[in-house]
Amino acid sequence: MNVRVAEAGWSREARSAQYEHEVRCPYCDLVQFVPLRDHRVVVACLRCRSRLEHCAGTDPNVALACALGALLLLIPAWTLPFLTTSALGATRTSHLFSSITILWREGQPLLAVVVGLFILVFPLLRLLSLSAVLFALRAGDKPRWLPAAFRLCNALQTWAMLDVFLLGLLVAYFRMRTSIPATIDGGAIFFMAAVVLGVAARASLDKVGVWHMIGWERRCTDPTSVIGCLSCGLLVADSCEGQACPRCGDIVHARKTRSYSRSLALLLASLLLYIPANLYPIATIPIGLTPTSYTVLGGVLDLLDSHLFGLALLVFTASFTIPLLKMAGLAWCIASALKRQSKHLVAKTRVYRIVEEAGRWSMVDPLTIACFVPVLQFNGLIDGHAQPAATPFTAVVILTSLAVKAFDPRLMWDAAGKRT
Ligand SMILES: [Zn+2]
Ligand SMILES: [Zn+2]
Repeated sequence: MNVRVAEAGWSREARSAQYEHEVRCPYCDLVQFVPLRDHRVVVACLRCRSRLEHCAGTDPNVALACALGALLLLIPAWTLPFLTTSALGATRTSHLFSSITILWREGQPLLAVVVGLFILVFPLLRLLSLSAVLFALRAGDKPRWLPAAFRLCNALQTWAMLDVFLLGLLVAYFRMRTSIPATIDGGAIFFMAAVVLGVAARASLDKVGVWHMIGWERRCTDPTSVIGCLSCGLLVADSCEGQACPRCGDIVHARKTRSYSRSLALLLASLLLYIPANLYPIATIPIGLTPTSYTVLGGVLDLLDSHLFGLALLVFTASFTIPLLKMAGLAWCIASALKRQSKHLVAKTRVYRIVEEAGRWSMVDPLTIACFVPVLQFNGLIDGHAQPAATPFTAVVILTSLAVKAFDPRLMWDAAGKRT
């Protein structure tokens, strides 16, 4: 039996402890035992070094308290003023909702929908579903909706972008302050507090522990005859291919369906849109009293001119480097699988994990635009709005994220003959 033991990150005490359960690595498909859950230990895959488990080690009540606190703070964050600017004897105040309506009126429907979904709907659904799941488990209940709610909560982790929006807000604020007086209002303060609690809820959430509380485990006797559910990690018999997972209800597949065609098509579409996204101006913002249109790289140069070096580096990394690395990294992984290469598989898997995790931060530029547009509507001299590249740029970020999710990194290991 080819069951092996993950060693990396194990403490001396854990090494001598009893092993707890089996997992199938979602990145390289190796079945292995993981030790008793210990918050001091990060368990890494023996073969590809991906993080298999990290027990947050805290009471689920901590994650529940943080999620409920974030939900409560979002009420004033979404209803109180966000930013105020003053110029030419007039003032402009923004609310989160005004960003959506103004972007829609300006002919930027994609950007308006993205702000509505990524900043309002998805974070709300994620925090509500997380709170409901943890509250039910705390009460000792296991209602039928529990697995679906926790699956939804995990699926929205990438797309609920409160933290990225906060970064966009800070970039917009510091960028505007170089031209006109701008103040951060109460709504933004509550929003920052909500983001802190949201991040704390994510950090303290022990996903594996919650799945263990929701449902049963299966001990496998032959690792070649089991499939790992990508949603909850449960091992199911390979005869269950195409059927619903008994724990989370998601359809179980040995490999993601049509992985090559979907990821290649999405990658190609991203590549095509990347050209206009960087060639044309993405937004107009007043510099001095002159409305100035800037491209993605031009915006970085403007920040350098304003001596905002930290923000310039940040925007350059998030808006220019990450999308490029995401496409190049994914292309490397796809090519590796198609060419059946067996070299650098650990490095390629690490690249895949990095682009999977970091890709969402590229949304910072479109969200910066959403922050400053409502408070830069004065007249022809002081004017800020989105420009033609905003839509293709936003589309590139979404399509590359979907392409990364569509690709199954286990195909690289299969192609190299490393099937378990
Ligand atoms: Zn692995
Ligand atoms: Zn499952």
